[in-house]
Amino acid sequence: MNRIVYLFYIIGFSLLFYSCLDDRDKIAHDPFIGKQAARRSVGQSASQILSDERFTRLEVEIVYMEGVRPTNEMINNIRGFLEELIRKPEGVIIQDRAIPGRGQSNYTVQEIREMEEEHRGKYNDGNTITLFVLVLDGHFNNDDEESFALGAAYQNTSIVLFGKRIEENSGGFRRPSRGVLESTVALHELGHLMGLVNVGSDMVVDHEDEEYDSHCDNSECLMYWAVETSGLFNLTGNNIPALDQNCRNDLTANGGR
Ligand SMILES: [Zn+2]
Ligand SMILES: [Zn+2]
Repeated sequence: MNRIVYLFYIIGFSLLFYSCLDDRDKIAHDPFIGKQAARRSVGQSASQILSDERFTRLEVEIVYMEGVRPTNEMINNIRGFLEELIRKPEGVIIQDRAIPGRGQSNYTVQEIREMEEEHRGKYNDGNTITLFVLVLDGHFNNDDEESFALGAAYQNTSIVLFGKRIEENSGGFRRPSRGVLESTVALHELGHLMGLVNVGSDMVVDHEDEEYDSHCDNSECLMYWAVETSGLFNLTGNNIPALDQNCRNDLTANGGR
């Protein structure tokens, strides 16, 4: 009797061990789940963001430094934009949370990646694809006096907004309101994650700007190059530019609405 129990235990443990290994093995080899799935280049998750084929739910994690909390207007605009363009029958969930400010005047790409490593809490899991939005209290270190970045898409599911820049350039005479400016920049960068233009979502009709790669050639479109830079201020009005028909068609063709 003892011998049978003993044998049973051995078999039991080895099965358990085997199944643990098997699970870990599966996770390690599923390229779309976990941290490894968030280390690809911009546009590489476009179809998975747009369609309901692999992921049926999308979570946006907004992490902002103290002092540059995004407006509710931006959060609502992100929700509306995603719900209009992507197919996620189980919903779009947006969460935001503060992290301590660093007070640096500018940040390098390397520092931005390190902050994501430290503060990003959500990665693709099960039927949920996750996006990360980092809002910084400083400028981008690549800026010069003539042009500067308001935001950037830097990985397949990651964007950064330069909150201080946005604050400095909004409100007041002939300037967009803070809510409109940060919404515009956020939606533009999300457009890149969805593969616009020609960076993960193939173009139905050629409309990539000849001078500025990955941007739309229509100066009234959300995906026009100037939208994420100081050039934005040449665009008139206090409205968020919409995606033009060419950009909309590319998203639809790649699994979006
Ligand atoms: Zn852009
Ligand atoms: Zn366009």
